[in-house]
Amino acid sequence: MAAGGAAEDCSFHYWKNPSPEEIGQSTLEFLKRLPGPTHIHVEGQDPTRCRAVTTLLHGNEPSGLHAVFTLLRLQIRPVVDIHYFIPSVDAARQAPCFVYRMLPHQKDLNRCFGKPFGDSKQDKLAADLIAKLERYRPECVIDIHNTSGSGPSFGVTTFMDARHDALVSLFTHRMIVTDLKLGALMEISETLMPTVTIECGGAQDPESDKMASDGLLKYVTYPDVLNQENLDISLEFFHNPLRLELRENRDIAFGDHSLLEIGITLLPDIENHNFGYVEPDTLLGFVAGR
Ligand SMILES: [Zn+2]
Repeated sequence: MAAGGAAEDCSFHYWKNPSPEEIGQSTLEFLKRLPGPTHIHVEGQDPTRCRAVTTLLHGNEPSGLHAVFTLLRLQIRPVVDIHYFIPSVDAARQAPCFVYRMLPHQKDLNRCFGKPFGDSKQDKLAADLIAKLERYRPECVIDIHNTSGSGPSFGVTTFMDARHDALVSLFTHRMIVTDLKLGALMEISETLMPTVTIECGGAQDPESDKMASDGLLKYVTYPDVLNQENLDISLEFFHNPLRLELRENRDIAFGDHSLLEIGITLLPDIENHNFGYVEPDTLLGFVAGR
């Protein structure tokens, strides 16, 4: 890695056992005290085992950071060592805070985990995170996000087995099983350790923060989080989600009639279709032009 100031943000700062005083009085204060991409290591009762949590891969998705803050403030002693990785601090800190998914002209960090890694700042940060997971060998990883807009919570996995089901069940009862390969962190499940994405619902939905904190509390205090027999929730599965991509530089609008000469107008309540089945005659929006 190149020397100098810029290189700093390509790897994680290390912070061990922060005290409640050091992290501040609110999630926002906590964010402002983070020195950049940060690895927080909290020692647990059994230091021979560990689990990992990633959150704030996207700067506008604060529920996971709020949950980490809450547990640190309460001085919850985890059952095993916990490694928190909080990468997109710079994007999250841009005023008025928690608005930017990533900084302008930067790559989406959660599309950078496919090997071989590129050499952008985001790729280097992704490579550093993977190197740390390979070094610490956590039993499992959860990656906490918020959905864009408003919506229900759900888990996402690229790997179907009881361990992944158990991890998602700590947080929510909806599970999306996808085989789309985008370079997301959870794709390391194939080669490293069980890893799931938790989508907590919208960043503005008050229940999202609570759901993240409640689930995280279970994740750090349950002796076994990979065995569903210990859990009382049964999952509802959604298979084969479809991803629709627009060509670059195509316009998109939201409205109940076509708003563009060339481009796509989606219905304002398109999020209502996030779960369930779409029939051939279901209206989703309008295409204008070729
Ligand atoms: Zn996200």
